[in-house]
Amino acid sequence: MMNKLIPATNPIRLITPLAVWQKMMAYVQACPDEINGFGYIQITGENTLYLSDVFILEQTVSGVSTDVDDQALHRHINDMVQAGINTALLRFQWHSHVYMPAFFSATDDACIARYPCEWMVSLVTNKYGEYQAQLDIYRPFKLSLPITVELELSADNRLSDNCSAEVSTKVTRQEVGWFGHVKHAAIRPDDASTPYCFELGGADDGLSQSN
Ligand SMILES: [Zn+2]
Repeated sequence: MMNKLIPATNPIRLITPLAVWQKMMAYVQACPDEINGFGYIQITGENTLYLSDVFILEQTVSGVSTDVDDQALHRHINDMVQAGINTALLRFQWHSHVYMPAFFSATDDACIARYPCEWMVSLVTNKYGEYQAQLDIYRPFKLSLPITVELELSADNRLSDNCSAEVSTKVTRQEVGWFGHVKHAAIRPDDASTPYCFELGGADDGLSQSN
């Protein structure tokens, strides 16, 4: 029996660049059966994790299972070591339930319970883009905490420049001076390169699961 704690405040966020989410979903869409993959996660702040990339390895799949080649995983870890990449980044495992609801099954829970590390993030998704994600902490005992995915949208520089130019042309700022006199000034663009996030709805918040 797994206990799932829900923090009253500060839920755990998995910040995911839009391109990384799209890459994972492209793998999911490309495979007619279940598919399994991994990814690199760093802790970037309190209750905040950052998913920098996802990838797949050689595996055998069916409509209800995936079996990753152990040797492929060992080779990948070895390649990371050779390339000087910190293997502790390998904290993310994801898989698809194809057209079935994106909830962790008893098989998934049993698999998650066996990871030989201090903590791990697991995510199950499907071809509709629904998902469920959780952080598992294994010591001193196992805890499973729900995670919300937040997509990080980086600014499109050309779009930002075009819109800044248009705002400068069409929008005037009214400023009231010390003695109440009103003057009008041109808009100076804010820093348009600040990335921003939006929360991605999970599998249990009313998204369609039919068909
Ligand atoms: Zn599953």
